[in-house]
This record gives sequence, C-alpha cells and structure tokens, in this order.
Amino acid sequence: MRCPKFGTEVSYLHHYQDATLFHAFDVDESGEARYKHKDTIGCEVMTYECPNCGVELANNEEDALAFLKGEISEEMATYFLELALEGGEK
Ligand SMILES: [Zn+2]
Repeated sequence: MRCPKFGTEVSYLHHYQDATLFHAFDVDESGEARYKHKDTIGCEVMTYECPNCGVELANNEEDALAFLKGEISEEMATYFLELALEGGEK
C-alpha cells in the first residue's frame, strides 16, 4: 500500500495504544520511592500511523488491516482522499 498523503510505500504501520501501567509501590532501603512493574493494561484508545510521515491512517485494528490489505471502506477512501489533497511538503 501507499501512504495516501505522500505516496511512499507502506508495508507496516506504527501502532500506538494508550495503556495504564500498574506498579507495586513502596519505599526502598535508602528511603526512595520504588515502583515495581506488575502489568500493562491496554485500553481501547489507539492509532495506526504511517511509519514514514506519522499521519493517522486508522484508529482501530479492523481499518488498519483493511488498509494493509488494500480493502479500504468508502469512509476510509474519503478520508484518504482528504489526506492526498492536503499533500505535503516532503
Ligand atoms: Zn505517510
């Protein structure tokens, strides 16, 4: 697939997902705060971006897969057309 904004070849996307870090918190031997990572809890807020220019191409896995497979919906096509018209300085 090609980036709709700059036309560069895109074979994968950058996926960013909001998450909550869960730590055990206590005081260490020297009296400093100590955080021990217990878990990372992902939430539904996410974005899939072009790895070259960082433009958002999808905000859910279904659309991101559709983009990479070249099976974009009409709604996505409209959004990509807007991106293409914006173009870029690159
Ligand atoms: Zn791009």
